[in-house]
Amino acid sequence: MKRTQSELLYQEALQHIVGGVNSPSRSFKAVGGGAPVFMKRAKGAHFFDADDNQYIDYLAAYGPIITGHAHPHITAAITRAAENGVLYGAPTEWEIQLAKMLKDAIPSMDKVRFVNSGTEAVMTTIRVARAYTKRSKIIKFAGCYHGHSDLVLVAAGSGPSTLGIPDSAGVPASIAQEVITVPFNDLESLKSALERWGDDVAAVMVEPIVGNFGMVMPQDGFLEGLCKMTHDNGSLVIYDEVITAFRFHYGSTQTFAGLKNHESIVPDLTALGKIIGGGLPIGAYGGRKHVMEQVAPLGPAYQAGTMAGNPASILSGIACLEVLQGEGVYEEMNRLAVKLTDGLQASSDRHGIPLTINQIRGSFSTHFCDHPITNYEEAQDTDGEMFASFFRHMLNRGINLAPSKYEAWFLTTAHTDADIDQTLEAADDSLREMAL
Ligand code: PMP
Repeated sequence: MKRTQSELLYQEALQHIVGGVNSPSRSFKAVGGGAPVFMKRAKGAHFFDADDNQYIDYLAAYGPIITGHAHPHITAAITRAAENGVLYGAPTEWEIQLAKMLKDAIPSMDKVRFVNSGTEAVMTTIRVARAYTKRSKIIKFAGCYHGHSDLVLVAAGSGPSTLGIPDSAGVPASIAQEVITVPFNDLESLKSALERWGDDVAAVMVEPIVGNFGMVMPQDGFLEGLCKMTHDNGSLVIYDEVITAFRFHYGSTQTFAGLKNHESIVPDLTALGKIIGGGLPIGAYGGRKHVMEQVAPLGPAYQAGTMAGNPASILSGIACLEVLQGEGVYEEMNRLAVKLTDGLQASSDRHGIPLTINQIRGSFSTHFCDHPITNYEEAQDTDGEMFASFFRHMLNRGINLAPSKYEAWFLTTAHTDADIDQTLEAADDSLREMAL
């Protein structure tokens, strides 16, 4: 497959845009370097690049595009927004509508505030937790990614770990000292951290189901123990559900049927993003009324935004959630994901290539290793070169994956059996060649 235009555009981009990309996770640095694919059009589950090559897309723009690209219902909503003025700097009825939809789906959110990205949502939940508890430290889990605000770029995963810079330059040591990082699925470490620093801990922040070092479920009792220990310590629980909300079912981790004891795994604050904007920039955070009342104009914790709640993002988000309310949409994504992962595992077994797949409904991760993946250390201990080779084989066969061994594959409502069949054929050919 020739990608001459992508090569040319990359050379030009390098002269004007730092690193040629507007987010480091888009660079091919973690898969051997070179030009990323420059896209020019997308429809449903399919991408078309600058050379008119076609791809089946499993990146889904790192999660938001759960209905496939250019879904007609969402496109109509965005068009309506464009025709009526895209930004008012004044409240609208649509913000209430989307806030109500979020509250109905995520029972722990009494009050909501819209922002523009997952980064902003997470950053603000931390500020609110600090304001509420009047404490300063945060505990987070190794490999969980919470956006790029200073506090959570300490031993972060996903993009930063892929690039081998777990602590970003420019984050002062004084800020890093406010963050304690413990392994995911490890209550003993959390307990020790709380014993040592508990009086200063404002919040424990977690991706309740991890999406940033593969898809990783919390082990039985982990979230229950986390919530109990945190609350007993007088700290708040913050769930970063930027990836997970509306990903596995119409709702969040807090009510996901794949987890037990829902009443014991309720957070105080939740950060949202990605899917709830239907592909347009958005973030939101919310939680218990008395905690959210810390936020200005009601309380002393300041947070604002020129673009926050803009009609295009809000209407796009409402339209996306309406599509997801459709009968059987999550079951169908799950069916296709099971078919795809069963086929991938069978191919890798046939060709003698160790592959661990973590599948959760319509999302899954593929780790080249022969051990389970339950925490970040195990995800790091996988064959990155093998992944890079698989990534390139698949790309050259028209299958678009994220260029990182840590990122998930996302099914959308637009994928079909024909897409899965074509992907499995490409994977079998790729793995056969890799085994030679
Ligand atoms: N939290 C999680 C769990 C994420 O995966 C991401 C982005 N991948 C973010 C926060 C940051 O979101 P954004 O890129 O919209 O700032």
